[in-house]
Amino acid sequence: MAVLEMRNVSFSYPDGTQALIDINLRLDPGDCVVICGASGSGKSTLLQMLKREIQPVGLATGEIQWDGLPFAEQELARTAQEIGMIFQDPENQIAMDEVWQELAFGLENMGLSTDDIRKRVAEIVHFFGIEDLLDRKTHELSGGQKQMVNLAAVLLMQPKILLLDEPTAQLDPIAAREFLQMMQRLNEELGMTIVLAEHRLEDVFALADRVLVMEHGQIKYEGTPKEVIRHI
Ligand code: ADP
Ligand code: ADP
Repeated sequence: MAVLEMRNVSFSYPDGTQALIDINLRLDPGDCVVICGASGSGKSTLLQMLKREIQPVGLATGEIQWDGLPFAEQELARTAQEIGMIFQDPENQIAMDEVWQELAFGLENMGLSTDDIRKRVAEIVHFFGIEDLLDRKTHELSGGQKQMVNLAAVLLMQPKILLLDEPTAQLDPIAAREFLQMMQRLNEELGMTIVLAEHRLEDVFALADRVLVMEHGQIKYEGTPKEVIRHI
């Protein structure tokens, strides 16, 4: 069964801007889909439509299903936790003073015991190779380190899907490459289902199973990275 499916989804902002036109998208477990397109083509709006917590305000038509059930019938808290999101600005998502607090925070809210929290945090920093960041102040981290911590924090919530909105746009090239390599490991080693919006195609081709090219709110083309390179 598809994890997530959009059928004939269109969306207009209150000022009349048609941001999405008749979008059809199916995500199966373990997919890594890259959405590319120029600025303003609708990538962010599309990701927001999938993340119920932050859906944009406006007129939506069509259908979004999550595990075969309409979004409306899902419990908001459950969906919110199961869809993890990473944004362009690494700063935006950091809430706590110290890295370990940032990582523990979501698990504390879920009511996990201190032992469980320590164990899960230790596992994730090991997977990411960021043990040395645990006792650092979050505001002292580089953009790339912040984005890695954001990703680790989101993963600790054990989402079924990761949505990433140009997560490397503000990182230097080396940090961007490290971040994208981590995405590839999450997809290949943990089977994480990923949707990544990105306008710099060359950086993300290695990682994508499928690329969707957006233009003026529509999916203009869809294919494997190789097919898309030949097409554009
Ligand atoms: P992208 O992520 O590809 O840059 P967006 O989804 O942000 O594209 O934007 C799609 C279209 O919707 C653009 O024309 C943009 O100007 C418009 N848009 C985005 N946010 C709003 C908003 N809050 N109100 C009105 N129009 C918006
Ligand atoms: P709050 O209820 O205060 O908003 P949450 O428990 O929702 O806090 O989130 C705590 C932390 O866990 C956040 O800093 C965030 O990074 C992460 N987090 C939790 N759920 C999600 C999610 N669905 N997507 C992305 N990040 C999440």
